[in-house]
Amino acid sequence: MSRAAKQQLNDGPKIRKEKMIASKMIRIYCKKKHYGQELCEECRVLNEYVMTRLSRCKFGDEKTACAKCPIHCYTPVYRHKIKGVMRFSGPWMLLYHLLESIRHIPIPEKLRKPLSR
Ligand SMILES: [Zn+2]
Repeated sequence: MSRAAKQQLNDGPKIRKEKMIASKMIRIYCKKKHYGQELCEECRVLNEYVMTRLSRCKFGDEKTACAKCPIHCYTPVYRHKIKGVMRFSGPWMLLYHLLESIRHIPIPEKLRKPLSR
């Protein structure tokens, strides 16, 4: 994406995080529904669309959840598609998130020391 784009594109931490989550969800969906190693054409287009919408979101980093947004910048077709992806991948994301957080729990100092001296 060029800096010379007509409109300032969002690149705040919140937007970037939402992009990452959306991409992850689309990847999970495609892998489990379309059985490809890579994103299939349909999911690639959807992913591209979501990224663009997020980059162009007029609220930028002030945005709320897309589902609560009054603007509804998605066209009905894509809105329908992404809803399907969210519904399908949501529980998987929760699971991955859980595993991720378990892996990152810091081990208390006490437990790191050898038990006997
Ligand atoms: Zn797919």
